[in-house]
Amino acid sequence: PNRVQNRARYDVDGAQARVEAKVAAGARGEFDNTPDTDPDLPGNRAWGREIAERMVESKLGVDLVSSSELTDAESIAKVVETGVAAAEGWQALGADERARILYRAGELLEARRADLLEVMGSECGKTLDQGDPEVSEAIDFANYYAMLGQQLEQVDGARPAHRKLIAVIPPWNFPVAIPAGGVLSGLAAGAAVVIKPAATSARSAAVMVEALWDAGVPRDVLQFVHIASRELGSKLVADPRVDRLILTGAYETAVTFRGLRPDLPILAETSGKNAIIVTPSADLDLAAKDVATSAFGHAGQKCSAASLVILVGSVATSKRFRGQLLDAVKSIKVGTPEHLETQMGTVITAPSGKLLRGLTTLGAGEQWLIKPEPIVVDSPLALDAEGGNRLWSPGVRDNVKRGSEYHKTEYFGPILGIMTAETLDEAIDMVNEIDYGLTSGLHSLDRDELALWLRRIEAGNLYVNRGITGAIVRRQSFGGWKKSAIGAGTKAGGPSYLHGLVDWVDAPVTG
Ligand code: GLU
Repeated sequence: PNRVQNRARYDVDGAQARVEAKVAAGARGEFDNTPDTDPDLPGNRAWGREIAERMVESKLGVDLVSSSELTDAESIAKVVETGVAAAEGWQALGADERARILYRAGELLEARRADLLEVMGSECGKTLDQGDPEVSEAIDFANYYAMLGQQLEQVDGARPAHRKLIAVIPPWNFPVAIPAGGVLSGLAAGAAVVIKPAATSARSAAVMVEALWDAGVPRDVLQFVHIASRELGSKLVADPRVDRLILTGAYETAVTFRGLRPDLPILAETSGKNAIIVTPSADLDLAAKDVATSAFGHAGQKCSAASLVILVGSVATSKRFRGQLLDAVKSIKVGTPEHLETQMGTVITAPSGKLLRGLTTLGAGEQWLIKPEPIVVDSPLALDAEGGNRLWSPGVRDNVKRGSEYHKTEYFGPILGIMTAETLDEAIDMVNEIDYGLTSGLHSLDRDELALWLRRIEAGNLYVNRGITGAIVRRQSFGGWKKSAIGAGTKAGGPSYLHGLVDWVDAPVTG
């Protein structure tokens, strides 16, 4: 059958959306998120330009971060004591009043969208088009968890016993949305919260927390602490009065915390090493664009990012898809985020260790299709806190071998590897051999292939004929499988997330 018939018959994910995305991307599958393609994106508005200019000099959040720094174990104990004492008053308010405050928090986050975009760009190299949906995600968390908090009080036959104190330890890569999700879920579940943001993106979390305080969350119910030393940070988790931990970060960090406090329920989303499989039935134009966007959005620094593309059958043996993919990757405009044309910004710190190896060293038999290089530009935002250059171009390596280091390792940066398989089954085996299971993608217009993939693939979040990043609160609850998660197994932005943050006890029979 020709491709047009295929598309009509095997429309697995909304033909209209795909066609629109393809038109937006251009026939060669170019990276399609330039601010100028959509009049509603902030980059196209005067205020977007202002935000970008402000990024260079931004000092937002600096005062709160420096005044909240904890440098000894006694001050951590005191913060815990304050939180535990404050929990009672927060619980006594009742779910409706708590929800009212959290809805208000959503409104204030919207009102401060420009500030949040400024600080994320300044601190983390977030481009406006990546930061804008991130602010929306934080607002979605406020509204959704406020609503779930109200429903928590309404379950027949069982009532939630509130926890007192929840620690939230988010990563730096989504410096507003992930801290907001953790904090808002804990507050909606009736607990006091202590947030310890990542040192490299603490200012962004600070601006978010200030919005919540201004919405009416008391400062002792939501405490913001900055702890630079890793060793000291673990003292927060080690305190037995902390009775839940919401963590997003490396798998090893979650394991360390679990060792410290085996009794502590942890809700953790951890590492990922994610692949998109492309079969011969796929819409290759769309697949090229989705792979490029998933691999290099926010310079690949998403747990959900595509680090591998696995080409099946004739897609692997012909040059066509590789050519389209290279066109798409080469079309990405790399730079610092104060320039509105930038599509891919910096990595968080000058690459070292594993990431530097991933950007510079090939495994046996591999070759560069596009070799990543450091780029030197005249912008303070290109430098990390130590003055190291953190701007790199994207890289694509071909011929990654099954079982090799690249196949199994998470790099968390702008690097993509190509693997090949003879059959879809073989491609699925290659994905399932990876220890992690966070996101996974299939590009195929064949229903049988889809059914096979759905039956066999091991990952928490599955995406068909689209990119594999950018889960939407409530519509695509987000969480991992295998080494991509530790804990209760509930998914962020999903209906049961708050259930893991309270204890359920039998309600007394009345009447
Ligand atoms: N929720 C994000 C997404 O769907 C990824 C979060 C992360 O990187 O930890 O892309």
